[in-house]
Amino acid sequence: MTEVNKILTKENFSNEDLEFLLGLQGSEKTLLFEHSAKIKEKYVGNRVYFRGLIEFSNICSKNCLYCGIRHDNQFVNRYRLTDAEVLSAARFADENNYGSLVLQSGELETGSFIKRVEKLLLEIHKITGNRLRITLSCGEQEKDTYRRWFDSGAHRYLLRIEASDQELYEKLHPYDGRHMFQRRRNCLNTLQEIGYQVGTGVMIGLPFQTLKNMANDLMFLKEFEIDMVGMGPYLVHKNTPMFALRDKLLPLEDRLQLSFKMIAILRILMKDVNIAATTALQAIDQLGREKAIKIGANVIMPNITPGKYRDDYLLYQNKPCTDENADDCKTCLEVRVALTDNEIAYGEWGDSEHFRSRIKSATDSRVK
Ligand code: SAM
Ligand code: SF4
Repeated sequence: MTEVNKILTKENFSNEDLEFLLGLQGSEKTLLFEHSAKIKEKYVGNRVYFRGLIEFSNICSKNCLYCGIRHDNQFVNRYRLTDAEVLSAARFADENNYGSLVLQSGELETGSFIKRVEKLLLEIHKITGNRLRITLSCGEQEKDTYRRWFDSGAHRYLLRIEASDQELYEKLHPYDGRHMFQRRRNCLNTLQEIGYQVGTGVMIGLPFQTLKNMANDLMFLKEFEIDMVGMGPYLVHKNTPMFALRDKLLPLEDRLQLSFKMIAILRILMKDVNIAATTALQAIDQLGREKAIKIGANVIMPNITPGKYRDDYLLYQNKPCTDENADDCKTCLEVRVALTDNEIAYGEWGDSEHFRSRIKSATDSRVK
């Protein structure tokens, strides 16, 4: 038996095993992808859940060194969707049977922002008859805020750890007391405690990042018992401090292949989690998201933000689909998913199976 086959048949993996798998090339890499595809089919089925993505504001108080909409980027045209625009996008998701929504924005902790999100959650549930599951992705907040939003009907939260290694995290963020690794980690704990389905993830192919870091990222996701994962390649934006490090990056194709390997290995490690085929994959390869679905991802996020705002939510250069509207995205994704021999699970919430079993085992252990 080859080394790859030996590792793939193991029940438990060491960090060294994961690092070895991340280094696979050629036919051995194909073996990995075939194995993860089988696991996906067995544990979550060849089905893809849609989450309508509403990028409702690009106003951000933070300054992550990699992000195109960071506070200090003066060249961004700042916007906030009106309530009517958010509600109309939510209605589109409901009428088109998406089952779920993601409300994403820059990070603000002001009273008016907190109240606005709360109000939008209540309104969306009201006009859609509670038919949609809503995910929030609005950054780090106080426990009380997370609870208020949970009580208003947000039951999933996405907060990428970005890099699970504190040293690497600190290289990607300014040292100004507002970008603290420990706070981000604590937020993930708080979200779990409150009862959210919790999603996190990392960027792949960052400057200074090693295969060992990535293997540790995968272990972090497992040990944290995360329910949903969104991870994709790091891509440059010229108006960010990290642009200066562009010569230190792996070629785009290598970042893409590493992203696929991360997705495949994660599917093997965490068989029942929801894994997103992220838009950044498509920025490198026209078929990036389809390839991710084939080897392990089971969630896709059609953008339903009104077309006129999309050019202003540029986290990185060459972000795809910024010239489209919600209908275009739907049609395009239907064709794309059909190409992967997967079916779109229309009208389903697509809760993470991992969340269900995590909650069940917590309840069982309390009863005992
Ligand atoms: N502001 C919230 C936060 O940071 O959690 C949510 C929105 S933020 C734009 C969503 C994600 O975009 C981040 O978690 C980060 O991983 C990703 N992102 C930002 N800049 C990126 C870049 N240059 N390349 C790839 N992903 C990027
Ligand atoms: Fe703001 Fe999120 Fe971008 Fe950081 S990643 S600058 S918090 S929008």
